[in-house]
Amino acid sequence: MTLHPTHNLSVEELDRQSVFHPFTALAQHNESGPRIMVSGSGVRLKDRAGREYIDALAGLWCVNIGYGRTEIAEAVDRQLRELPYYHSFASMGTEPAAHVADRLKRMLPGEMGRVFFGLSGSDANDTQVKLVWYYNNLLGRPRKKKIIARKRAYHGVTVAAASLTGLPVLHNAFDLPIDRILHTVTPHHYWNAEPGMSEEDFARHCAAELDALIEREGPDTVAAFIAEPVMGAGGVIVPPKGYFQEIQKVLKKHDVLMIADEVICGFGRLGRMFGCEVFGIEPDMVTVAKGITSGYVPLSASVVSEKMWQVLMEESRTLGVFGHGYTYTAHPVSCAAAMANLDILEGEKLADRAAETGAYMQTLLRETFEGQPAIGEVRGIGLIAAVELVADPAARTPFDPALKVAGRVAARALDNGLITRALPNGDSLAFSPPLVISRADVEACVERLAASIAGVR
Ligand code: PLP
Repeated sequence: MTLHPTHNLSVEELDRQSVFHPFTALAQHNESGPRIMVSGSGVRLKDRAGREYIDALAGLWCVNIGYGRTEIAEAVDRQLRELPYYHSFASMGTEPAAHVADRLKRMLPGEMGRVFFGLSGSDANDTQVKLVWYYNNLLGRPRKKKIIARKRAYHGVTVAAASLTGLPVLHNAFDLPIDRILHTVTPHHYWNAEPGMSEEDFARHCAAELDALIEREGPDTVAAFIAEPVMGAGGVIVPPKGYFQEIQKVLKKHDVLMIADEVICGFGRLGRMFGCEVFGIEPDMVTVAKGITSGYVPLSASVVSEKMWQVLMEESRTLGVFGHGYTYTAHPVSCAAAMANLDILEGEKLADRAAETGAYMQTLLRETFEGQPAIGEVRGIGLIAAVELVADPAARTPFDPALKVAGRVAARALDNGLITRALPNGDSLAFSPPLVISRADVEACVERLAASIAGVR
């Protein structure tokens, strides 16, 4: 990369002076950053200094097909030359958008009605919130507006999506959450179940807590429940056995919509195409992003069931125009990339591959870490996992957060050529590699993580 023509500052210095980095301790940015990545192939990345890393997090849980697939570059190039942009307002459209919407409807479980495109998981969840409110207004239920998410959930950072997110770091000093958004218990058996409680009993307990919250608020005020099939950024939390069955009984009883946030779980990560299929979730609305293009270009979608769509369509006759949409809704270049990405995902059966390699990764992680000093829990399913560190495994005592144990492990891992991620609550290190990862690279990731954990206190 050439230097800026007007001065001789390095890229690192330009970054330090000008880039406002997300999810970064702003005051410390100049002390430790930046690390500039320049190229990628498969599961490997290279930085400007020529150091190589295995990316065990697939970027931000999104590069499902791995780096460097030229099919996407070619599809994007073709679309850019043919028609770089056109919008989808007022029934205008483009070919790639129609193809992706049709394909998504056929891929998703249940009978889906329409696909509303956005550019990020956050804006897609904001759209879901607006759709829920719009839907209940059309149905003449202006009080039925509250949406229940879960503590430690991650649903994004825009105003409504950050409110759905159940992590204090997204709320503190931002005046969030907004009203009409509530949080129920995290279905994390390791931390939240009573001693001796079975997974099934804990699932029933979580459903009872949700039921009690809805009763307290008044069922005529609660509109929707949103959940990731496996909670990702909040800690990689796999629900206890029977959880979604119990939850869905409560939702049906109170006529509350189910929104499945498939932003991380969707497109193969759990060993099936969607997390809903793994856990028997029957969603009214589905949010997808990340894996739909494997992160090569931005695209997301808010999908509504056929049943909901019929209501939205019929009841909106009196309202007229649906007043929502982005300049870049259904961007043809993003949709062309999505088609090429889905060809790879389906053609190479990457969900099946994630099931196989994932089973190997889960076993290896457990064999390597369970019972070792400072290891609390190893958890996950398919190609998503977390290793949680605690001060005293026998007593389940967490480390003092001020020690930033997981953060220090993640920093050591980087120096050992492994990209993992310290999750914001507790001391967990996450794995969510590209679905194309080989067994040998899984072994390398586990070895490097073990070396990075050794001796950390
Ligand atoms: N939903 C889930 C489950 C996510 O994991 C994320 C991002 O990590 C989002 C929504 C927000 O997506 P984005 O960062 O594209 O806005």
